Formats: sequence, C-alpha cells, structure tokens
Amino acid sequence: MKSQPIILITGATRGIGYAAARILTTRGAKVIIGSRDAGRAESAANELGCDWVQIDITDQASVDAAVATVKDRHGRLDVLANNSAILLDHYENLTELKPEILRETLETNVIGTLRLTQAALPLLASSSDPRIINVSSGAGQLDGEPQAWAPAYSISKTALNMLTQQIVASAPEIMTNSMSPGWVRTEMGGEDAPLTPEQGADTLVWLALDAPRTLQGCFVKERKVIPW
Ligand code: NDP
Repeated sequence: MKSQPIILITGATRGIGYAAARILTTRGAKVIIGSRDAGRAESAANELGCDWVQIDITDQASVDAAVATVKDRHGRLDVLANNSAILLDHYENLTELKPEILRETLETNVIGTLRLTQAALPLLASSSDPRIINVSSGAGQLDGEPQAWAPAYSISKTALNMLTQQIVASAPEIMTNSMSPGWVRTEMGGEDAPLTPEQGADTLVWLALDAPRTLQGCFVKERKVIPW
C-alpha cells in the first residue's frame, strides 16, 4: 500500500463509514467522504480534516461528477469503499414485500454500487495497489438456515456478493472483497446492536490498508474469511 493511499468511502457522514473515515485519516490515508448531502459531507470532512465529494450512487451524473472531482484533485484512487446502502424493509417478510421496495433497494445497494465501481475503474487503474471493498452483510449469506428478516435488503446483499465476484473476474488486478461489519449501533443497525461503529469499521480499515492481496475475492468478517 502507498504511504498515503487515497480512499473514497461512500455514505461516510455517519455510522460505519464515518468511523472508518476517522480511523483511516488517523492512520495517514487521504480520505474522501462521500454523501448525497454536500453540507453534511463538508462538515464531516472538516471534523476529520479530510476531503469530501457529493455523490448519489443512484444518479449517473452525480457519480460521474464525483469521480471527475477525485481525478482532478488526486489524480488516482487506491481504495474504493462501497459502504452506502439502504434498509427499507426491516421487519417485513417475503409475503409483505412490495416489488417497488425491492426495486428501490436494488437500485442503491447493487446497481448504485455497480455504477460507481464502473466509473471508478479508470482511476483505480492508476494505483499500484488498487482495492475495492463492498460492505455487505451476514443477511446476504446463503450458507445458513433461511431467514424471513428484511427480504429486499438480504436479496440485495447476496447480489452485492455476486457483484464482488464478478468484479474479481473482470478486473483481477484489483483486490476486491465483500465484508460483513457485524451488527453495529448506527442509524441502520439501531441502538440494541452490540458493536460500536469503530468495531464495525475495523475490517474495512484492515482491508483498505493491511490485508494481504491473497485475500482477493473473499467474504471477510472480523478479519477472517467467512462462507458466502
Ligand atoms: P447508515 O444508515 O448509518 O449509513 C448508510 C449511508 O449510506 C448513509 O450515510 C447514506 O449517506 C448512504 N447512502 C444511502 N443511499 C445512498 C445513495 N443513493 N448514494 C450515496 N450514499 C447513500 O448505515 P451503517 O453505517 O449502519 O451501514 C454502512 C454499511 O454497513 C451498509 O452497507 C450496511 O448495509 C452495512 N451493514 C450494516 C450493519 C449494521 O448493523 N449497522 C450490519 C451489516 C451490514 P448520505 O445520506 O449521507 O448520502
């Protein structure tokens, strides 16, 4: 990893993304905070002493403008942390799931992630140690008992995991991984979650700076490989 890696984290004005931005900045990385809200992005970046871009991953023009800004300011990108996601169907089960909720969830969690990844590939190509971290979830794992919880969100995270594998196959020079942060106390995770945002961000930080490239293409939680 370069001495000062340039790292774009989407959805980083709060929660796991913000904690990761803070730790990575402390570790000497040049972090770029992404948010749909320019005001919130700027004030979070000012708190941490890092850069920011306005970005809505469901909007191609916004994504293209954000990537162009990163290129103008930094010339390359070393790590893309696709952290943004929405959870709209918390306690529902499949019998209650409205197709439009699934569509909206996929639009952000999967298609938005694909859109930004595609746009960022040329910038990552300028890095000597390019990495993509897709923040997934245990909800997307296929190895356990079937769960009724949050079907749209869960389906989107399973699809995100396949997106990770497709990126690995298409761009093997980039170390791309899915990771699960665990159950974390954030706006999405709620106040009963056992982990702090910093604990949830630990594997993201590790994948960005320290993890060996031999972990390419794995699903990772608590710095260990877990089943898809
Ligand atoms: P938060 O809800 O706190 O943060 C999610 C972020 O996503 C928001 O800051 C928001 O940024 C961003 N976002 C949403 N839609 C868009 C969009 N269209 N374009 C760009 N950004 C968008 O969640 P967490 O910090 O808890 O979650 C971070 C990641 O961790 C997510 O991928 C989540 O699925 C995953 N995760 C979380 C768990 C938990 O227990 N908390 C458990 C398992 C996985 P803004 O509004 O500023 O644009």
